[in-house]
This record gives sequence, C-alpha cells and structure tokens, in this order.
Amino acid sequence: MPEPLTIMAVHAHPDDEAIGTGGILARYADEGVRTILVTCTGGELGEIADPSMATPETLGEVRERELRRACTILDVAHLELLGYRDSGMAGAEANQDPRSFAAADLDSAAGRLVELVRRHRPRVLVTYDDDGFYGHPDHIKANRITVRAFASAGDSSAYPDQGLEPWAPDKLYYTAISRSAMATFAERLSAHGINPPMSNEDGDVPPFGTPDELVTTTIDVGSAVERKRQSLWAHATQMGSNVFFARLPPPLFNELFGRESFQLVESRVATSLPEDDLLAGLRGVPGGQRHSPAR
Ligand SMILES: [Zn+2]
Repeated sequence: MPEPLTIMAVHAHPDDEAIGTGGILARYADEGVRTILVTCTGGELGEIADPSMATPETLGEVRERELRRACTILDVAHLELLGYRDSGMAGAEANQDPRSFAAADLDSAAGRLVELVRRHRPRVLVTYDDDGFYGHPDHIKANRITVRAFASAGDSSAYPDQGLEPWAPDKLYYTAISRSAMATFAERLSAHGINPPMSNEDGDVPPFGTPDELVTTTIDVGSAVERKRQSLWAHATQMGSNVFFARLPPPLFNELFGRESFQLVESRVATSLPEDDLLAGLRGVPGGQRHSPAR
C-alpha cells in the first residue's frame, strides 16, 4: 500500500484552524487526502461568549468539545492535542505559567511534534509565519516548533529515543493573507458597514498581512467554504456578538474566505510557483525518508 498523502496543520488554539486552513482541511479530505490537525493549547484563556456556556475553570474542556465538533465538520482524520496551556496575549502574566506553551522548552515541545510527524508521515506541514500572524506568543511558538520539526523529523540522530522511523515532510508552508487581500477585505467590509478587525478608531487598518510577493500558493476552497464557516461556529464560546466573524453575513463570509493563501518556505521537491495546490510536485512521488541532513 502506498503511503496516503497526508497534510498536517499545526495551530495554537482551538478555532485557529478554521479561518486560515478550514478550507484546505475540508477540501483535501474531499479528495481522499488524510488531514491531521495538531492543536498546541487548550485555549483556556479565550472568550466566553455567554456565561451559561463555560466558566474560566471549564473553558478548556468545553473548547475541546467544540474543537472535536469542528474537526468532524471539516472531516479531519486525526486531531492531536499537545496539551499545553494557553499563554494569553503577549505580555500577559500567563506567559510565565510553567504549564503555558510560551514557557515550554522549545526542544522538548518540538520533539513532541516530531513524534507526531513520524507517526502520521505528512508530506506537507502548515503553520503560521514567524510573527505568528499577529504576534500572539502561542502562535509564534507553534511556528518555532513546526520549523524545527520540519528540519529534524527526517534526521535519525534527532530524538532517537522515540523509537520511530525518521520521516521528512516535503513542504513547509506558512498561512498567509496578502496585504492586497487585506486591503480588498477592508473595502468589502466597509461596503457592508463593518469595521475590519485590527482597525483603529478611524477604521484604518495598519499595514498588516504578508507582502504579496511572498505569497506562493493560493487554493480555491469555494467547495468547502460553507463547512469552513460552520466549523468556525462550532467554536460557540468564541463567537460572541462582539466578535468580528460573528457579525459577517454568511454570503459575505463565503466571499471573503473562499480562498486560502500560503507561503511555501521550504520544499524538498521541485514545484513551479505560483501554485494552486499544496500537493503540487508530490502526487505520485514517494516521500519521507530521503532527507539526509548536512553535518
Ligand atoms: Zn490563536
């Protein structure tokens, strides 16, 4: 049996999977690709839309149920929880909590992801950019462990105690929203009388998003966008009426989120850019173990 093509997305909190990668998770699952979602924290410091839904003490378990429901909607083959604690926004006291993802030792946290890579054997890893898209310490940490796992999972001398065969994924992508897409996004929202998120009091959005020239890959997820929207709503505790996404009329959501963009940052296979497929260059090509790192 050839190895099934597998894509692994690494996210910081429950609900992060929806906006940047909900479409690819569902769309590639439709094609028979195995999709793995790794969620690093329990999102214990997130919102509680309605006090009847959860308390600060129960939010972690409630959010795990929401996440499992979202995974069902997106047809995620396996959900893996790293079990770290939400670190809160940059500068919050929770950053120092020894259980927090931000405070976790990078080498051991990356080792846990390496283990999952060796078990699930993804061809493609997807996570946030270096800045975690908006600077949240858990998103930045998710980037760091994924970059490290991409580099070391195929190296037999890295984490040898795991007793697992090395496996080198072929491609590493960062989720990306291009600056021009952000601008279009802001225009379309204003046309609907909605202030874009991250905007200041005047409704202006500071320069934000990935420079257009760095976006390598754009995927049409129109066939999956309705499930993507439903998967976001599965995170009911995070969808209070003050939340930007909760105020978008469904047709506008589907228009704005029907494409997902990425930056290909590492590739061990030849591919021609720009791409419209995360698996470009991988179909019919065996993967995994030909990586021999320079010493
Ligand atoms: Zn997050």
